[in-house]
Amino acid sequence: MKILLLGKNGQVGWELQRSLAPLGELIALDRQAVGNLCGDLSDLESLRATIRQVGPDIIVNAAAYTAVDKAESEVGLAERVNALASQVMADEAASQGAWLVHYSTDYVFNGEGTEAWQESDAVAPINRYGASKLAGEQAIIASGCLYLIFRTSWVYGARGNNFAKTMLRLAKDRETLNVIADQVGAPTGADLIADVTALAIRHVTTRPELAGLYHLAAAGEVSWYGYASHVIDFAKANGEVLAVGAINPIDSSAYPTPAQRPLNSRLNTQKLRDNFSLRLPDWQSGVTRMLREVLNK
Ligand code: NDP
Repeated sequence: MKILLLGKNGQVGWELQRSLAPLGELIALDRQAVGNLCGDLSDLESLRATIRQVGPDIIVNAAAYTAVDKAESEVGLAERVNALASQVMADEAASQGAWLVHYSTDYVFNGEGTEAWQESDAVAPINRYGASKLAGEQAIIASGCLYLIFRTSWVYGARGNNFAKTMLRLAKDRETLNVIADQVGAPTGADLIADVTALAIRHVTTRPELAGLYHLAAAGEVSWYGYASHVIDFAKANGEVLAVGAINPIDSSAYPTPAQRPLNSRLNTQKLRDNFSLRLPDWQSGVTRMLREVLNK
């Protein structure tokens, strides 16, 4: 089996390099060209030519325009990378009989209510990033290719920057931290996403009827405030010297950003767990593991 991985150095892409390796021949690209292979999703014609040249059985697309606030002003680029490039991959997958594995976001929803979103719920993105990711999903679904789309939320990895590391850095110098408490979701490890992806690929290659759209997130829920408190409590309990004394919950309205964020990022993962006989661990176990890794505890 030949797998073409795009976005190999993102949080999820990095973990996919590990989890996909045992499945077959892995050709992994980032936006830099390798020979005449092009992994830059903004160069649509070169992307198409690359897929044709590689002739993969499975395309796994972990690349995306993920700068949520910047997408409000770089609308054209966000749409090109998140929607038009998805269209190219889907069309090529359809014509070559390949699978397309793709990632999307709870930001396709408007964030209202407190129920966990199901795959069948109505979509209504409230920012440009969400709209561009939704357009990508719709292009894939309309193409007629065999696809797996995983909508996920609040992704972190031990490598690179993440919310927990930012909180730890700020807590070293500041006595108080103000953290948003009215947005709720589930921090989800890039390693979990990559492992579930590999398991799902194993299933669908023999059971194509499992193709479709799935919600993939760690179990449980928490606000950014609760997440920050978990991180700081763990660090203090494990001997980190921090200046922070108080963590204050604030509303989103007290922290305006160019892109509006949904308040309800909860994802219902029942379909994924049932169709693939999976158990998804609670968010705390993955975050604690990541903290042990970054703090070397
Ligand atoms: P990252 O931002 O960590 O990785 C995205 C990767 O895409 C980066 O390596 C980036 O490269 C690359 N990229 C950006 N533009 C291009 C381009 N034009 N051509 C090629 N590569 C490009 O994202 P995650 O790993 O966290 O996200 C994986 C998927 O999950 C994405 O589809 C995202 O939309 C989705 N998702 C992410 C969430 C999150 O909280 N992060 C939440 C919900 C869904 P470079 O570093 O060079 O820019």
